[in-house]
Amino acid sequence: MPLHESDSIILKTYPLAEADRIVVFFSRDYGKIRGVANGVRRLKSRFGASLEPLALSKVTFFQKETVELVRIRSCELIDSPMKLFEDYDRAILASHVADLVDRFLPDHEVQDAVFRLFGLARQSLVTDCPLELTRCYFEVWMLRLAGVFPEFFRCSVCGKRLGTEESRVFLPGLTRMACHSCGQGRGTEVPPDTIDALHWIMTRPLNAEDQHPRGAGLQHLGQLNKIWIEQYFER
Ligand SMILES: [Zn+2]
Repeated sequence: MPLHESDSIILKTYPLAEADRIVVFFSRDYGKIRGVANGVRRLKSRFGASLEPLALSKVTFFQKETVELVRIRSCELIDSPMKLFEDYDRAILASHVADLVDRFLPDHEVQDAVFRLFGLARQSLVTDCPLELTRCYFEVWMLRLAGVFPEFFRCSVCGKRLGTEESRVFLPGLTRMACHSCGQGRGTEVPPDTIDALHWIMTRPLNAEDQHPRGAGLQHLGQLNKIWIEQYFER
């Protein structure tokens, strides 16, 4: 039985039999995996806190070609998730991020860009980065990496490139953009501060020190993300 090892973020766990747990983890080298950890529910488990949701851990596991669940042999904590759960809003957002990663990712598919995004969001949650920005940033990039984030900077009708300053409209359905002349009378004007917030997110690292988006632009983009995420899972 081949033995593998990979840095991983624990997504969720649930009980199995008396003392065991099913662990869903996102490994950098093998993608999302489901495994069984034996004895993890005993009081003095050898796994300690390394299998808590959102822990960053080095997971060592056996994988049999024919069996869906891997067997987790050991797990070494690299970074504890405890700080993520120190206050209510942070804890809710941390769980939301883990839940989206879990739902967006297929099993056993290496997704290095998503792994780095997840790590970035996880790190940003324990700094003084505003939670609203972390959430919006994570959602925009998750949708982009899944290939379902709408094109904001090109007219979907005539193909013209749209700069940040140019006015544009959302066509009905909110997934296609049109320039001012193609969209006349057909859709909803996109507020300039929404474009600015998106442009910042697409061109800056989350921990950039310059003036970050806030207020209505960020809020509006957050509402749109919510719609696109729902649409994605309804497909
Ligand atoms: Zn056009």
